[in-house]
Amino acid sequence: MAACQAQAPSSEQAWLEAAQTFIQESLCPTGKGPNVQFTQSVIDCVKTVWLSQGKNQGFTLPLSYSFVSVQNLRTYQHLPCCSHLSWSSIAYQTWAPEARPNGVPLPRERLLLVGTLTDLSEEQGCRNGSLYVRDNTGSLGCELIDLDLSWLGHLFLFPSWSYLPPARWNSSKEGHLELWEAPVPVFPLTISPDPLTPIPVLYPQIASCLLRHRSKLRGEKQNLAGKLIRLSALVKSKKKAYFILSLGELSPTVSQAINHVSIIVQIPAQLVWHRALWPGKAYVLTQLRVSRIPGYHYCVWMTSSSSHLMLLEPGRVQELELEGPFLEADSKSHPTSSNFQDKKGPKGLMRDSRLLNYMGTVTDVLNEPAGLYELDGQLGLCLAYQQFRALRRVIRPGVRLELQDVHLLQSVGGGTTRPVLASCLRGAVLLRGFSCQKPGRQSSHQAHGAFLYEQLVWEWQLGLPLYLWAVKALEELACKLCPHLLRHKQFLQHSSPRNPSLGLQLLAPTLDALAPSSRSIRNAHTEILEEPHHCPLQKYARLQIPYSFPALDTLEKEGRCRAWASFDPKVLLPLPEAAHLSTCQLNNRLAWSWLCLLPSAFHPAKALVGVLVASSHKGCLQLRDRSGSLSCVLLAKHSQPLTDPQLVGCLIRTEKFQLVVERDVRSNFPSWKELGMTGFIQKQQSRVYVQFFLEDALILPVPRSFHHSSSPPQTESTGVEGPHIGQSRLFLLSHKEALMKRNFCASSGATSGLPKPTLSFHVSGCWLGGTQRKEGTGWGPPEPLTDESKDQKVLLIFLGSSVRWFEFLHPGQVYRFVAPGPATPKLFEVEGSSCTSQRPLELAGCVSCLTVQDEWTLELESSPDVLGIPKALPESSLTNLLSANLTDSLVSFSAAILSRIMWNTEDVRRCVKLTVSIETVDSEFPPRLDIYIEDPHLPPPLGLLPGARVYFYQLEKRVSRSHNVYCCFRSSTYVQVLSFPPETIVSAPLPHIYLAELQQSSCGPFQATASCHVVSVVSLQLRWVCAHCTSVCPQGKCLRQGPTCFTQTSISQASIRLLVEDGTAEAMVTCTDYHVAAALGLCANEWSSLLEFVRKPGRVVLQFMEPGAQLESSAKTEDPLTLYLHTLCTSPSVLRPIVLSFELERKPSNITPLEPPRLQRFQCGEPLLTRVNPRLRLACLSIQESENPISLGAFASSC
Ligand SMILES: [Zn+2]
Ligand SMILES: [Zn+2]
Repeated sequence: MAACQAQAPSSEQAWLEAAQTFIQESLCPTGKGPNVQFTQSVIDCVKTVWLSQGKNQGFTLPLSYSFVSVQNLRTYQHLPCCSHLSWSSIAYQTWAPEARPNGVPLPRERLLLVGTLTDLSEEQGCRNGSLYVRDNTGSLGCELIDLDLSWLGHLFLFPSWSYLPPARWNSSKEGHLELWEAPVPVFPLTISPDPLTPIPVLYPQIASCLLRHRSKLRGEKQNLAGKLIRLSALVKSKKKAYFILSLGELSPTVSQAINHVSIIVQIPAQLVWHRALWPGKAYVLTQLRVSRIPGYHYCVWMTSSSSHLMLLEPGRVQELELEGPFLEADSKSHPTSSNFQDKKGPKGLMRDSRLLNYMGTVTDVLNEPAGLYELDGQLGLCLAYQQFRALRRVIRPGVRLELQDVHLLQSVGGGTTRPVLASCLRGAVLLRGFSCQKPGRQSSHQAHGAFLYEQLVWEWQLGLPLYLWAVKALEELACKLCPHLLRHKQFLQHSSPRNPSLGLQLLAPTLDALAPSSRSIRNAHTEILEEPHHCPLQKYARLQIPYSFPALDTLEKEGRCRAWASFDPKVLLPLPEAAHLSTCQLNNRLAWSWLCLLPSAFHPAKALVGVLVASSHKGCLQLRDRSGSLSCVLLAKHSQPLTDPQLVGCLIRTEKFQLVVERDVRSNFPSWKELGMTGFIQKQQSRVYVQFFLEDALILPVPRSFHHSSSPPQTESTGVEGPHIGQSRLFLLSHKEALMKRNFCASSGATSGLPKPTLSFHVSGCWLGGTQRKEGTGWGPPEPLTDESKDQKVLLIFLGSSVRWFEFLHPGQVYRFVAPGPATPKLFEVEGSSCTSQRPLELAGCVSCLTVQDEWTLELESSPDVLGIPKALPESSLTNLLSANLTDSLVSFSAAILSRIMWNTEDVRRCVKLTVSIETVDSEFPPRLDIYIEDPHLPPPLGLLPGARVYFYQLEKRVSRSHNVYCCFRSSTYVQVLSFPPETIVSAPLPHIYLAELQQSSCGPFQATASCHVVSVVSLQLRWVCAHCTSVCPQGKCLRQGPTCFTQTSISQASIRLLVEDGTAEAMVTCTDYHVAAALGLCANEWSSLLEFVRKPGRVVLQFMEPGAQLESSAKTEDPLTLYLHTLCTSPSVLRPIVLSFELERKPSNITPLEPPRLQRFQCGEPLLTRVNPRLRLACLSIQESENPISLGAFASSC
């Protein structure tokens, strides 16, 4: 302690010396040499403040404090800090917890700040209402709660302040000071002497009347006095800055609103008044004149350069007596709007916001560049409709704000739940308390985008609900895409005035649809002065969220969830059909199903946004965002595949898409009775992808520089400008083969020679001309070919990461293969030594093949038409397709997929069967064909869905044992989806025909309806079979006793053969299962009791001889069941007119030759020999009772 006291004088000395040096350098008026008195005054001032705090530990000088210059703060203080000379440590300790729990208090530094308070900007050399602290080293912007105008231009010690270095967004790179307490003058302030005479003043009522009698004033300037009832925001336009204040009567009466007068303050030196004015206090403004605002229809009071602002003290003013009839009642004395009209739109939906004053504390910063904050933990605050840049640097949690004439908007919708306060230009936002919190760390999207948000308000003129939604949507999009795919800065900032930011481009389609169509520019004067008030915040309608931009993995998850939530075996296999299916049939029918979700299926509707990527692992196209990738099937437009590889890396946005979920289920339901039990599902998996047309999407090329350095290689695979050196060659593609795992020889260096299955595909075609070298930005002339006679045909092998080109390569297109790097002779001609070994085994004998290198890129050459290359896809003729000729076994055609079934049960070989209807010009009724896809082509390519149109190239044609033609996938098969399943399925009614039409044309309809008459029943069979092994079960017991048939579930099966005719021809119709009930004319109850009677014998078969209906039965004729059935089958309730829907029993793809017409003898008076066509065989699809039975009566008498 003794040592401390001994040291004290010397350390005080050192402090004083340092202080003197600092003051001389940084504060003393420059160019006047050392000024001892000046220095002493500063030190005295510091001492006074230091000693005033009481607990100064016995020191007369603040030894722990040091002086800091503006320059040093700027240069060395990189962290926010505060300094409170007048505070004790205890005071700081009680203050700091205010910042908690959510914030960190500003760290305390022991710094002495002395400087001149001024509103003159040193840099701009002008005044614009901002405040600065200046010393000899520079000046810093500052904020002050309660400015006394007499302080300006004087030197002060600032006893309590904080310094905030520039935030990331702040382009000026200037920090600022927050002055907490009133500054302490270093020299006593000179008080201007009171004017001797009372000031003559006008009060608002007279002053507003005088505006209409402007001529009486003859240019005289007047003084106005009144209570400050309204203060506008400080408006800064390119031309000038100004604000408008309104003075009201001192003693408010009912008519207060009318008796107020507005005054425009636009002299630069007076703009700082905005900081000194307190609503509710009374003021005198001197030397005002009446003036007309250009382009505006009435006059206002305006300050002159000699005007002063002072507080109104009753003794110092005297009301001015004016001559003339000014005081006549005039309710129109205040400006009213003449051209204001209510906005269009349904009246009930538009609401008016409320104008109010509010005092509150900021509790959260929601989005700083967008001007969104939280007030008092429960209100939103939007400052975007003001120019709030100056306030932006100050506002953080803990700041107290007074909001004048702020709009309160409730339930704005669009995803915003709480009420929002929003300030337009009419009301000022006044700072009423600083925050002791250190500013939080800004996330990247918080640092950028201020310009974009300003554009939304000032150029797009968005109302608040839409603005809040747009801000949210931009946040959502930035989260999706930044920073991995794009940088925040580039997403939110515009790259050039004509090139809006990517963020805005993504929102533009929605904003175009929802933003006000007439974008009138806001007029600040009108907005502040006019009554009734009109501004973008005045009227609003609750907004339905237009779109959400979900993360791709969220979308995928939701799709999956919905697909499984809606998976119900009972719905997929409704009764009565399911009741007749065997175990195997039942489970196969459940094995594959799909769900298609349209954007409208979501609330709110979802828009798809992502970067298009070509996967080098799977060869498919994907949309990618930060959350993941979603596979997609893209078509340029209807029937047109994607061909341009430059689309890779583009940002895609679409509102029209199909989210497809394919469900694969492995189950072992014993029979339809158990369909409700989930325990029989053994395995379920799903495949999710989206499909859409590019013509429905917004495609935004992302400049190369935008890609993050760590972006995956495939997004960089197509350079916009291409390599600077390199060579290229044109290639015409004639055939593409399937993308699948093929066996490749291991490379020569590898130890094992075993073939390795590698994902790959090949294309064949020919080179067009020789290799071209890069010359500047284009390509040089093709090199002459070394051997003109040599065939330019080549087979290109894509494996490894070059499989990413798969989706872009299509027959008939010309592509340019580009190899970057220095020219290598014969690069595109011979198989390099490194690649020879990498040939698929199946191509071992092929002469000219070339492996596409990973680093090669592909460009679409746009002029294939010039070369005379047919663009139509080759298709096999129908005769070739449906002929027994198997020498030409590869067929190609376009077809619509009718159904897709999967065999996925253990006892059947896994395969997918597509039933398609072939598109052909040869026949009115498209023939049908089955296409089988088996391993290794499973799972099938994306997009092979019922309803889709697909082009199949080089399918293998086969003929079944029953002479049906069917097709199979093979490794050379190429599949191209031409169109997606229709969004709404319209089932066209079957054509109504005469039966004879089926005999006449070789290509009649496969399915149709005919009105006909049941002539006789030919046979009827009812039986109960084991669901598992389908052998007959008398009394419900499977005859094949064994471990395989333990379930003992039996199902009923039925079939009936009817002879029908419609007067033009006759046909044999087979009905099965539940159609038998309809054929017999039984209702559901009668049918099920009939089946119950059959359960005991297990099987009942009736055969009728034709004609004459002689009964042949498996059971004894006296059996009552047989007798009943016999009677029924010969009764008019069965032999009746019906409307029959049917399909041909013989498939269109059946290639057994038709029976020729045979000669038959008829006895009609004279014997008659006539040619009779073979009898038609039909399978029943449904039977309806005829509505008009009489019309068929005529046919009964035939022969
Ligand atoms: Zn307003
Ligand atoms: Zn069985």
